[in-house]
Amino acid sequence: MDFIQQPEKGKGDPSEKGIQFMNIPNSTKPRLVVIGGGFGGIELIKELKHSGKFQIVLLDRHNYHTFQPLLYQVATAGLEPDSIASPLRKVFKGYDDFYFRLTEVEKINPEKNCIETSIGHLKYDFLVIATGSKTNYYGMEDFKALAMPMKKVSEALDLRSRILQNYEKALLIDDPKEFSSTVDIVIVGGGPTGVELAGALSELRKYVLPKDIPELDFSKMAIHLVEAGPRLLFGMSDNAGKKALKYLEELGIKVHLNTAVKSFDGFNLKLHNGSEILSETVIWAAGVTGNSLEGLNPDSIKAGRYVVDGYNRIVGYDNIFAIGDVALMIGENTPKGYPMLAQVAIQQGKLTAANLKTVLKGGILKPFVYNDKGSMATVGRNKAVVDLKNFKFSGIFAWFVWMFVHLLFLIGFRNKVTTFVNWIWNYFTFDRATRLIIRPWSRSACVREFKEEKAYVENQRGKS
Ligand SMILES: Cc1cc2nc3c(=O)[nH]c(=O)nc-3n(C[C@H](O)[C@H](O)[C@H](O)COP(=O)(O)OP(=O)(O)OC[C@H]3O[C@@H](n4cnc5c(N)ncnc54)[C@H](O)[C@@H]3O)c2cc1C
Repeated sequence: MDFIQQPEKGKGDPSEKGIQFMNIPNSTKPRLVVIGGGFGGIELIKELKHSGKFQIVLLDRHNYHTFQPLLYQVATAGLEPDSIASPLRKVFKGYDDFYFRLTEVEKINPEKNCIETSIGHLKYDFLVIATGSKTNYYGMEDFKALAMPMKKVSEALDLRSRILQNYEKALLIDDPKEFSSTVDIVIVGGGPTGVELAGALSELRKYVLPKDIPELDFSKMAIHLVEAGPRLLFGMSDNAGKKALKYLEELGIKVHLNTAVKSFDGFNLKLHNGSEILSETVIWAAGVTGNSLEGLNPDSIKAGRYVVDGYNRIVGYDNIFAIGDVALMIGENTPKGYPMLAQVAIQQGKLTAANLKTVLKGGILKPFVYNDKGSMATVGRNKAVVDLKNFKFSGIFAWFVWMFVHLLFLIGFRNKVTTFVNWIWNYFTFDRATRLIIRPWSRSACVREFKEEKAYVENQRGKS
């Protein structure tokens, strides 16, 4: 098998003359490029640690892995961001022939086995795309512009700042309408993220904020959860959905089922049933779509996800694989592909690593078989729902199971310890340690900074 490497200076394809390549040394081994250090990408590389068969290059736009299932705890001041983020260089410390580069991958050029990034081009022998998913606004531009997403650590921190700033601002407001629109929060989407966020916000409202700002009457703060479908936690059992609804209602959350959102102008949320909710803070937890890249045949992409065969190979390409949220593996029992869950990404990462080794040996590849370990969601203190294959339960035991599983899958010993200590502290003191406004949220400032930065860069380019 011939392996593709970076062309040496002055040699290589004349059509690539002038292209800037990334500074990764050539190797006698085939180069495996992995885009994305999420659940799938990390598992894949860990599985290949001792094989010594590949030169591995990991590219990610962040220098850390994000444990997305606990983002809502960062947004609600329950955990520091570094408890749920792990530096990728630390995760792979000591790995041989492994290189990490912090960059955004822009395009794939499959004809040349090359990817294009913000820091140069890179040739690959094998490519694994593990870029996860991105927030899906279903084409509603007003929500894209004005609602708050919660998919990245920076977005969870924005949300934390904004919520805390709103209460400081509310102290200065006399007008009851303006007060409501400042303190009330709307969450759009009744899946696990929306449900968990609503539960955590209700605890903040009940236990933490009244002690912090006794001048404010937090009984007047409304938390709405708006869901277009007829039930909560759609991917879980009917029983889990009903229990979650009961728990949230006990916590005083206003749950609106069968209610689709129509428009949002930054202050007023209009619903399809004709009603309106006055709120500045609308949190978008209504869905995600695959985060595919430019360059591959459009026929290989459906709803932003790469259509893969049973071995996670993208259809039409022998040496390009996709795993996790960005992969769409359609089977007899999975007409819409596997759910976008961490376990799917982890298991596909593991299998793809094994299959890549098999490809080198020329053996027979193993198809992906998903081992569904169940799903769970927590709805605040002592309340959770757990669906296992043959056993479904809820309440305090489910809550302990939820905590144990999340600690188990958090990456890094330090993160497990700090998260555990924070949880114990929060539980016994009814407090939250991290309600800090370190980087104040401001939409106009964000927009202005972005515009100014863009203008500056364009100006500099014009000069050079
Ligand atoms: C708020 C929230 C809560 C969730 N809760 C749960 C839960 O409780 N249980 C569960 O099983 N699942 C949960 N999920 C889903 C779970 O997090 C995903 O299924 C899982 O992260 C998918 O893993 P992945 O490896 O495919 O992608 P990810 O883990 O998303 O990793 C993708 C990586 O690719 C990088 N990347 C993306 N594009 C580029 C690019 N162009 N260039 C360079 N790097 C790029 C990103 O920076 C990221 O590091 C939740 C998701 C969210 C958003």
